[in-house]
Parts: sequence; C-alpha cells; structure tokens
Amino acid sequence: EGDAKRAAKPRVLVMANQKGGVGKTTTAINLGTALAAIGERVLIIDLDPQGNASTGLGIDRKARATSSYDALIGERSLSEVITPTAVPRLSIAPSTMDLLGVELEIAGESDRSYKLRKALLAFFESDRTRPDPVTYVLVDCPPSLNLLTINALAAADAVVVPLQCEFFALEGLSQLLTTVDQVRRTLNPALTIHGVVLTMFDPRNSLAGQVVADVRAHMGDKVYDTVIPRNVRISEAPSHGKPALLYDLRCAGSQAYLKLASEVIQREGRWRPA
Ligand code: ADP
Ligand code: MG
Repeated sequence: EGDAKRAAKPRVLVMANQKGGVGKTTTAINLGTALAAIGERVLIIDLDPQGNASTGLGIDRKARATSSYDALIGERSLSEVITPTAVPRLSIAPSTMDLLGVELEIAGESDRSYKLRKALLAFFESDRTRPDPVTYVLVDCPPSLNLLTINALAAADAVVVPLQCEFFALEGLSQLLTTVDQVRRTLNPALTIHGVVLTMFDPRNSLAGQVVADVRAHMGDKVYDTVIPRNVRISEAPSHGKPALLYDLRCAGSQAYLKLASEVIQREGRWRPA
C-alpha cells in the first residue's frame, strides 16, 4: 500500500470560491491537518495575499522571508519556500503581501496561468525521490477569480468549493462553475469538481436546513455528506496559530473536518488508478 501511494502522483486540490468568508482558509487548514492526521503528507500553498492560512498555522509574518510569491515568479523553487508547521506531515508555502503585485508582474507573460503548475511539477520531480513525498497539495485561494485563482485551477486535479450555509450560498456559484469550465476547456482539461463542502451550519438558524436542501438539489452528489457546523472553537483556533484539530480535537468542528478528510480520501479511491 505504501508503494502504491508512493507511485501515485500527488493530488492537487484547490479551495476556491470568489466569495470571502465562506470557509476556504478554514477548510484548507483543517482538512489539511485532518489528512495529515490520517497519514497523508500534505503541503498547503497559501495563495491569498491576506495570508490567513499561514497565520492560522502559526507562521509569523516576520518569519516569512520567502513565500509562494517567490515560487510563482520563479525566483525560488517551491522546496526553498516551504516550511514545516506544528502539525506532523503538514508543511506550507506561506504567503506574503508581495502576492498583491504578482498579477501585474506576470500579466504580460505567455505562461502567466501556468506559473504555479510549473513550480509544482518541478517540486514533485525532486520530492518523489525523498523518503516521504507529499501526497496531497491543498491550495488556498484569494476571494476573487483573479490570475492567482486561475493559476491554482490550472495546476489542480480538482476543486473543493466551500459554501457557507446562508441565504445567498448559491449566489456566485454559477460564476465559479463557469470559470472552472473555461479553465477545463483552455488550460487544464483534467480539472474536475471534487466536491462542495457546506460550512458554518447552524441548526438554530431555521434557514440553514433549507439552504442545505437547496444546495443538494442543485449540486447533487457533488455535495459531501459531511456538513461543517458553526463552531466557536474553529473561529478561535487561528488566533492561537493552531488548526482547530490541535486547539481542540474533540470539538464538533474538528470532528467534522476529520470526517470530511475520510470522505475526500474515499472519493479519491474511486479515481486513483488501482
Ligand atoms: P475564506 O477563506 O473563504 O475567506 P475563512 O475560512 O477565513 O473564509 O472563514 C471566515 C471566518 O469564519 C473566519 O473568521 C473563520 O474563523 C470563521 N469560520 C470558518 N468556518 C467556521 C466554522 N465552521 N465555525 C465558526 N467559524 C468559522
Ligand atoms: Mg481565506
């Protein structure tokens, strides 16, 4: 089993939704931690200039000498910018504010949409000879369908779409799906939707159940069975520089992300070559 895992190409999953505050970063951090907890070797790439995934994993802004920016523009290799986290088997390519300027910097280049893909392919080439190569890459995207998100989609195997359980959950989803279709047609024919993850579910909100039903009616079995509850421990964890799973493993939020991780692996099982 170990050998089969080693031979398989690492899976690249992108957390994307152009809406802010829907749970992209929280899902990148906690799904990443949960996957690491069940034995996967996970690399998170923080592509949001806000750097919330980096901060939430305890990587101090001051400690970020190099970042995903340097890897995108080809100034450094990804291996050079990756740093370990407090979570065993989980590392991160942190973000810096430099990412704000990257769009303008690379706009004129013909390979502008493939910067991340190229950096990742070079990284995989060197990483596969190591004793414990990365098996999952999770990319945290900014709240926009800009060139950074396009780079993520062009490099991805599949998209994980976090949707907040609120009245306007589906609003903007068609725009995201259209963008994914465009990227599939032009840049990355293999791109799929891995799944839609419903986040911040609050049973006390009488609307929330209806939202879940609507999203399931609209997206069918693309929606993961696991629904992430609204949970105060999840929102507290980042200010301690820890994933929720380290901050409070037993809280409902952590347990939901562990369930989501096993569901993600299960879906992978269907796709991985035997
Ligand atoms: P995005 O990356 O899409 O902008 P975040 O993951 O940063 O969204 O989440 C937005 C805010 O909601 C953050 O303050 C985060 O801590 C909080 N949050 C996310 N998921 C949950 C949850 N399940 N329960 C409680 N708060 C959450
Ligand atoms: Mg975010």
